[in-house]
Amino acid sequence: MSLSSLSALRTEIFHYIDAHQSDFIENLKEWVAVESDSVQPDLRKEVIRMMSLAAARLAALGATVNSLLNGQHLPLPPVILGELGKDPQNLTICFYGHVDVQPAKKEDGWKTDPFTLTEINGNLYGRGATDNKGPVLAWINAVGTFRALKRAMPVNFKFVIEGMEEAGSLGLEKLLEEEKQGFFSDVDYIVISDNLWLSKKKPALIYGTRGNACFCVEVEGGDKDLHSGTFGGIIHEPLTDLIALLDSLVDPTGHIQIPGIYDAVAVLTDEEKKLYESIEYDIEEHKNNSGVKKLLYSTKEEILLHLWRYPSLSIHGIEGAFHEPGIKTVIPAKVIGKFSIRQVPNMDLSDVHQRVVDHLENVFAKRNSPNKLKVSMPLGAQPWVADVNDPLYKAAKRAIKTVFGEDPDFIRDGSTIPIARIFQTITQKRVIMFPIGAADDGEHSQNEKISRFNYIEGTKVFAAFFLEIAKLRGQSHETSNPGTNN
Ligand SMILES: [Zn+2]
Repeated sequence: MSLSSLSALRTEIFHYIDAHQSDFIENLKEWVAVESDSVQPDLRKEVIRMMSLAAARLAALGATVNSLLNGQHLPLPPVILGELGKDPQNLTICFYGHVDVQPAKKEDGWKTDPFTLTEINGNLYGRGATDNKGPVLAWINAVGTFRALKRAMPVNFKFVIEGMEEAGSLGLEKLLEEEKQGFFSDVDYIVISDNLWLSKKKPALIYGTRGNACFCVEVEGGDKDLHSGTFGGIIHEPLTDLIALLDSLVDPTGHIQIPGIYDAVAVLTDEEKKLYESIEYDIEEHKNNSGVKKLLYSTKEEILLHLWRYPSLSIHGIEGAFHEPGIKTVIPAKVIGKFSIRQVPNMDLSDVHQRVVDHLENVFAKRNSPNKLKVSMPLGAQPWVADVNDPLYKAAKRAIKTVFGEDPDFIRDGSTIPIARIFQTITQKRVIMFPIGAADDGEHSQNEKISRFNYIEGTKVFAAFFLEIAKLRGQSHETSNPGTNN
C-alpha cells in the first residue's frame, strides 16, 4: 500500500472510531454490568456468563471461537481461543486479555455503582473499566472497525481471552503448553494490554518485569517456648539467631549483602540508560504515595533503575515471634523469618537459592549456635524482559506516535507479572505489553476508571498498530530469539 493510501485509510479508520464512540462505550457498559468476579466462587456463574458474552462478540466479528473448558471438579470458566483471518501473506498477532474482575462493592468507598459504567468529567468509572474489559474491547473494536469499513484485514488475528486472571490464571499455563504446537504455532507476536502507563498523560510500552524468589528461614531451639526469667542468659535464643541472620541480608543503603548475588545481573548499557532519561515520572508523587520521608535515591534514573532492573531484598515478617501489644517475657522455641528477592535478568532462580542458603549457613555457623537452621524457597518466579529494538516494539512505538503525537516511555514493572514471561517461555514468541490505561486508573482499587480519551484513542492506537505490523510483512521477523535476551 502506498504511503498516501495508507494515511487515507488511517484517517478513515480514526474517523469511524470517533464517530462510534458512544457505541464503543455502550459495549463497555454492557460488559462492566456483569459482576464477573473470579475471586468469589459464588460469582463463578457470572464469570461464565461474561465468557459467553466475550465469545459472542468475537463471533460477531466473524472469528472462529473455541471455548476450552478445563478443570473437571471446579466450575472453571472456559478460556476462549478465537481466530480471525488465515491469509498466509499476513502476519498473525495474538491478543491476550481477561474479562474477569476484582471484587467490588459500593460500600468499599465507590462514588458510583461499580457495575454501572458511569461517565464523570471524561472518566468512565466501573469495575473492569481499565482492568481489563476496556482494553479487550478497544482491541475488538479496532478489529471491528476494519470489518465495518469492509477493509481487508491487515493482519491475521488470534485471541486468548480468559476469566480466571484475578484468581491466578488457573489452568492457563497448561493450556499454553498444550496449544503451543497447535493454536500458537503460526502466531508471530503476542500482545498483552493488561497494565497501565507510568504517567497520567504519556503513553508507555512495557518491556520487562521483575521476578520474585520468596524465602523462609527457620531457626528452631527446643520443642517449647521458654520463660526468660528461667532460661534467659543461659541458652542460644532462636529469635536472636534469626535477627542476626535477617540483619545480614541487606545494608542500610539497600545493597544486598549475599556474596555474588549481583554477579549475574545484566550490565546496564548506554542505550538502556538513555531510555530512562525521557521517562515521565513524578518522584515526589511516588514518595508521597509511600508515606515515607525520604527515598534511598534522589534522581529519577536511580529510582527507576533500582525499581526495575536491579534486584531488591525485602524482609516481610517473622512467624512464631510474639507480636501482640503489651509485654510477654517469652523465648519463642521456633521462629521463621520471611523475605524475598525481586530478581532481574539474568539472575537464575536456582543460583539465587543456592547463594542465599550458603550465605545464611555461613552467618549461622559463625554464631556457634546449637539451634537448627532451615532455609527454603517456597516460591520462585522468573523475571521477564523483551528487546525494545524488536520490530514489534518499533511498530507499537510508531502507532503511538501517530495517535498521541509523542514517543512512548519504555518502561518496566518492579513487580512480578508472570503472564508475559509465561507466554514468552512457553510459546517462544515475541511478547509486548501494550497498555492503554493511565497511571491513575486505579486497577484493583475503588473508583476504577478508564478515561473516554484513553479508551477511544487506545482503540485508534491498536488499529494503527495493525497497519504498522502489516508493514513488517516480508521483513525478516525471525531476527531475535526471545529466549536468549534475558
Ligand atoms: Zn488485569
